[in-house]
Amino acid sequence: MSYQAIVVGAGISGAVMAERMASQLGWKVLVLDQRPHIGGNCYDEIDENGIRIHRYGPHLFHTDNNVVWEYLSQFTQWVEYEHRVLSHIDGQLVPIPFNLTSIERCFEPAKAIRIIEALVDRFGEGARIPILNLRQEQSPLLRELAEFVYDKAFVNYTSKQWGVPPEEISPEVTARVPVVVSRDDRYFVDPWQALPSEGYTEVVRRMLDHPLIDIELGISMETRLSLDWEAQRLFLKHEGDTIPFHGKVIYTGMIDQLFACDAGALTYRSLRFDFKTIAQPYLQPVTTVNYPNEHAYTRITEFKHLMFDGSRSSNTVVVYEYPKPFEADKGDEPYYPVFTEEARLAYERYMNRVEEMPGLMCVGRLAQYRYFDMDDAVSNALSSFETLCNEL
Ligand code: UDP
Repeated sequence: MSYQAIVVGAGISGAVMAERMASQLGWKVLVLDQRPHIGGNCYDEIDENGIRIHRYGPHLFHTDNNVVWEYLSQFTQWVEYEHRVLSHIDGQLVPIPFNLTSIERCFEPAKAIRIIEALVDRFGEGARIPILNLRQEQSPLLRELAEFVYDKAFVNYTSKQWGVPPEEISPEVTARVPVVVSRDDRYFVDPWQALPSEGYTEVVRRMLDHPLIDIELGISMETRLSLDWEAQRLFLKHEGDTIPFHGKVIYTGMIDQLFACDAGALTYRSLRFDFKTIAQPYLQPVTTVNYPNEHAYTRITEFKHLMFDGSRSSNTVVVYEYPKPFEADKGDEPYYPVFTEEARLAYERYMNRVEEMPGLMCVGRLAQYRYFDMDDAVSNALSSFETLCNEL
């Protein structure tokens, strides 16, 4: 049967596009992924200890977008889960985002009271202030707080994570983790915070479980598709034949790889994940503990804390995150875009070329070179589907 669309990549973006095209347009869709599994970086699985682990690092779903929430809720039940993170500062664990409780833990009582008063006077209760903005404050107490938080919680973490100090990355990145004028110790404040009751892989499996969707895993795009940029034509490879393809190709991989990086490789930061099984029931009091300073890793995540149905295992499984530069030839995964001016210009050049290829659409974190949370990826894919419909 001939396909009306081919989706390259079975992560969130590809799954949303495939599901929409099959269910709303009645299209026959082929989904390809070079990995042996669906789910992209959201992929999770139950390991030999009976603990659900996230192979590509911790994924905690949260959103303020009810369209995204309603959409995903078609494919899963949810279990409420609010993420909490502690930061290892001067040998003790303090809530991060840095909040009023953290101030009381890190400053002596009389000083803490004065800093809290100064914060409330200046910003009001409940305010959330990016650390780089707090550093611009003039009041000596607020300056002291800002310098403390910057030095102890941000500068080394960010240098490890990104390879540069906080001033050299987009301000929105450190603003994701503000200083909070309240005792709210949740990492996210979105109205919907939950985990899919049977895991993320199962959500994607249900999205793709449609009679009009075929999936081929463990194969590269080049095995099934050929893009002739000169002639501006797409070809499908099938049983030794290469036949013109007049449908849509939804590409969710790295945009620079479509062009063998001929206008420059887009810059990314990668991570090495070190999974450890430890023979004790729990390692740490919350899911994630950040290590902003002397350790080579940035954080440890303990998966048992994400298991609402409990785990009978007497072991616990944790993952250490070691940031590193992204090197494609070493098999690194491109986790975080690093938006240099050069990278932005290269991205624009690639995008202009994509727009000249009829039928080709770039969707998602890697193809659009964006730092998306999971809900952003869903929302973006739903909008891309609208765009596709409007162009029909
Ligand atoms: N950050 C930091 N210290 C922390 C937590 C975060 O310096 O304890 C900075 C760091 O630059 C990080 C950014 O804030 O990359 C965003 O953190 P977030 O936890 O949102 O990153 P993600 O979970 O996407 O890796």
